[in-house]
Amino acid sequence: MTTKLFDLAGKVAIVTGGNGGIGLGMARGLAQAGAAVAIVGRNEAKSAAAVAELTQGGAKAIAVATDVTDKAAVAAMAERVLSELGRIDILVNNAGINIRKPPHALDIAEWNSVVQTNLTSAFLCSQAVYPAMKAAGGGKIINIGSMMSIFGASFTPAYAASKGGIVQFTRSCACAWAADNIQANAVLPGWIDTDLTKRARQEIDGLHDRVLARTPAARWGAIGDFAGIAVFLASPASDFVTGTAIPIDGGFSIMG
Ligand code: NDP
Repeated sequence: MTTKLFDLAGKVAIVTGGNGGIGLGMARGLAQAGAAVAIVGRNEAKSAAAVAELTQGGAKAIAVATDVTDKAAVAAMAERVLSELGRIDILVNNAGINIRKPPHALDIAEWNSVVQTNLTSAFLCSQAVYPAMKAAGGGKIINIGSMMSIFGASFTPAYAASKGGIVQFTRSCACAWAADNIQANAVLPGWIDTDLTKRARQEIDGLHDRVLARTPAARWGAIGDFAGIAVFLASPASDFVTGTAIPIDGGFSIMG
């Protein structure tokens, strides 16, 4: 029997921050490929809208209101997904925030909030789903990094630290859990048109045009650009791909 390379029928995916932006773009791709999807976020109205959209498209989807920085809440979220959807095959650690300030102006509460949301949450969620993936004989973890996993910028000390950290965390999980047939990979988005960057475009003079000038594809990314990479990294097509950090950036990171 031949393996259906991109088929996710019967699989269950958790997408943190799946109620909007890049997470929703990935959730749509996973649902289209046949996965049942748990949308995890704090904003219940946004999550309900995402679930309604996925359900109307024919997918099974649930919303699990969760603050991913809270260990007990994350454990309860994983329990609920298991009890309502029956298994956990795919985890997308996508929830993220940014506070744009130079290092000398960032206070410790702001630092902690960014690092806990972007990095510690990935640790908590991965640890929470590991037993279910191991018991099922395998799984797929997709962590969302950034161009700030590679480059520096004066206004993103905590964000860049968290996004650099997520690549190294991904590599650790890839090494530790390969024997359990769990693949862990990172995706590094370029500049994508979402709520997160709408504010950046307003706050940073000239950002919009600088991104266009530096991106060989000559456009900002759209959330639909993340459906394909989500399906690839969640499906049997990527079974020998682990520990990587794949830019989805229209060429931003290779532009000299
Ligand atoms: P959005 O602001 O559109 O989405 C962020 C998501 O994270 C929301 O769904 C939000 O849901 C969720 N979230 C934030 N904090 C928490 C929390 N404590 N608990 C649970 N969920 C939380 O941003 P993007 O789609 O742009 O960003 C998604 C990811 O992509 C982030 O990790 C970001 O750093 C990364 N990225 C984005 C880039 C871009 O250009 N847009 C570039 C590089 C990386 P809710 O508010 O309901 O909790």
